[in-house]
Amino acid sequence: MDMTPQRWEYTKGYLHEVFGRPDEQLETLMQRAIGAGLPDIAVSSDVGRLLQLLAMMACRGPDSRGAAIEVGTLAGYSGIWLARGMPPSARLTTIELDPRHAAFALGEFKRAGVGDRVGVITGAALDVLPRLAREMGPASIDLAFLDAVKTEYPQYLETLRPMIRPGGLLIADNALGSGNWWIDCESDPTRRAVDAFNRAVASDPGFAAACVPIREGVLIARRL
Ligand code: SAH
Ligand code: MG
Repeated sequence: MDMTPQRWEYTKGYLHEVFGRPDEQLETLMQRAIGAGLPDIAVSSDVGRLLQLLAMMACRGPDSRGAAIEVGTLAGYSGIWLARGMPPSARLTTIELDPRHAAFALGEFKRAGVGDRVGVITGAALDVLPRLAREMGPASIDLAFLDAVKTEYPQYLETLRPMIRPGGLLIADNALGSGNWWIDCESDPTRRAVDAFNRAVASDPGFAAACVPIREGVLIARRL
């Protein structure tokens, strides 16, 4: 059974309708963010639901460290899904370069009732992550979600890899595309960097990895 543009449109709509089911705040969040001048690049509701589910699996239980990191906050859309999967005692640290995005997201985290479990750090991921690695130490987080600069994914991996506890999860958005679907663009530096990242994780004996081709592709890897 081949994927056609028509079937893809139908599949997308079906996944949003059946598995997305955002609440009223999440339903209108990105419209409000776009109205405030933020870009329309958040994950979709079905990807959000997947993030919530994965956070439930990684951030609860006796092995949980009660900590997760998101790289690329934007308006707080994916962060709210993640935080809602985490217990109230756990903490999500989310990193955002643009102070306007960070301020908007902060308001949304409060409104969503997860303000007390989310900390937004304003800064460049490549500056903030090494600092967090020093502060938090190895095997200190249950989950990392990558969604900032695609060409920096390999460097995010290098810093975060030792921080993820055994049994913890590495998740990356845009594993198969970013804005456009990656088919035939070997010369595209973004595509090349994410391809290198995908292959590094997939062949790393320290991870068991899979990729779910919903929206623009979500890589999911469990730290062994
Ligand atoms: N995860 C969000 C979308 C993130 S979009 C969601 O799905 O809801 C990517 C975000 O990364 C943007 O808000 C952008 O401002 C931010 N960003 C860009 N460069 C960055 C950098 N070097 N470090 C951290 N964040 C960065
Ligand atoms: Mg993305």
